[in-house]
Amino acid sequence: MSEQAKEQTLVEQAPDNYECRVCGYVYEPSKGDGKSNVSPGTLFTDISNDWRCPVCGARKTQFDNIGANDAPSGFQENLQYGFGVNTMTPRQKNLLIFGALVVGFLFFLSLYGLH
Ligand SMILES: [Zn+2]
Repeated sequence: MSEQAKEQTLVEQAPDNYECRVCGYVYEPSKGDGKSNVSPGTLFTDISNDWRCPVCGARKTQFDNIGANDAPSGFQENLQYGFGVNTMTPRQKNLLIFGALVVGFLFFLSLYGLH
């Protein structure tokens, strides 16, 4: 197998994530964007140019390619985009904490709905 073929496979397995420079929202191709009917598996580059950040409404041009965070550790440049909290910006940490709160709150609500 040539190097190029391997690289292609890696890219297919782990498409690049894109982060909103305005609010820190990260578009993950594997999840898509349910709010805007972007189905899971859609590459960021394949999304319509009309698409806006679901959190703050920023345009596609406001997004940065931050690489694939679930890529196998084959590429040196991808290592800094791992799950390590130390490599996260404060903005990303805030988003993570906020996200955890929302998930916890929804979980609480779902329990409450059972009674
Ligand atoms: Zn945003």
